[in-house]
Amino acid sequence: MNILVTGAAGFLGSHLCDRLIKDGHFVIGMDNFITGSPKNLEHLAGNEQFLFIKQDVSNFIFAPGEIDAVMHFASPASPNKESRFGYPNLPIQTMKAGALGTHNTLGVAKAHHARYLLASTSEIYGDPAVNPQPESYWGHVNPIGPRSMYDEAKRFAEALVMSYHNFHSIDTRIVRIFNTYGTRMRLDDGRVVPNFIQQALRKEPLTVYGDGSQTRSFCFVDDLIEGIVRLFHSDETMPVNIGNPVEMSMLALADTINQICDNPAGIKFMKNLQLGNDPKRRQPDITKAKQILDWSPQVNVEEGIRRVLPYFKQEMGLVE
Ligand code: UDP
Repeated sequence: MNILVTGAAGFLGSHLCDRLIKDGHFVIGMDNFITGSPKNLEHLAGNEQFLFIKQDVSNFIFAPGEIDAVMHFASPASPNKESRFGYPNLPIQTMKAGALGTHNTLGVAKAHHARYLLASTSEIYGDPAVNPQPESYWGHVNPIGPRSMYDEAKRFAEALVMSYHNFHSIDTRIVRIFNTYGTRMRLDDGRVVPNFIQQALRKEPLTVYGDGSQTRSFCFVDDLIEGIVRLFHSDETMPVNIGNPVEMSMLALADTINQICDNPAGIKFMKNLQLGNDPKRRQPDITKAKQILDWSPQVNVEEGIRRVLPYFKQEMGLVE
């Protein structure tokens, strides 16, 4: 297939491009490098199965040649307001990527009669009143809160995808992605796994926001990509959660990372930088993915953290 991937230079987008190329597809990668990095695609230079186009998806998209599928992954995705890559500092771009970008990419899918996959998010559930979150849960979202530029853009994106599906008969998929970590995450995007790993490697105390009782469920990137590829090839047109269902508190995550990195410095509690609206719990209900995709994560968090350490050491200049 010829597949257009937006957000190709991002953490998930670049791993997705690698996987699609490995599976024999031709990939057109698109990115404007607002949060993505050319470094994530460096290894694909000269690859005959890959073409890169620098383009902002919120403007009209011209995709050359035949397109069989569109996978829309372009968006800032970190909630951290201290990082210049966090969506609180890119609010308009975030809303445009989710709204105009989804509209433009759906337009490409319609023009080419292509299959379409939207990268949605667990954030559409907001600060959930139901735990774990099944796909049938409608969410608990503050429309003007500090995360609203991301949450509402993705909720709008889902609604637009369903509209194109129902009204224009586009063959669509929606994946709701839960917290994921792996190589190619930005070191400075302010998310918890890169923050904790860097602090632990520097033998500094880990910065736990609030009281650390808030929970997340962390999926290793290879598991996530496998789930997305299975969904893409399935005929499921309703949203599917993909994530690791093992829920842990930020205190437990900090302990795990300190142990793996042999960091005696412990933790320090900090004021929550996420201004409230930091979801207190988050855990995917993956019953649907198990049933229809025969998918479940294979890598637990201890193993996954060990696997990404060489990447962080390299990026931090700790390896000769
Ligand atoms: N967090 C933390 N210390 C940090 C960064 C984040 O305790 O240095 C917490 C944050 O308050 C949130 C959780 O870790 O409860 C996950 O945050 P992240 O930014 O990774 O993504 P989110 O799941 O909130 O979108």
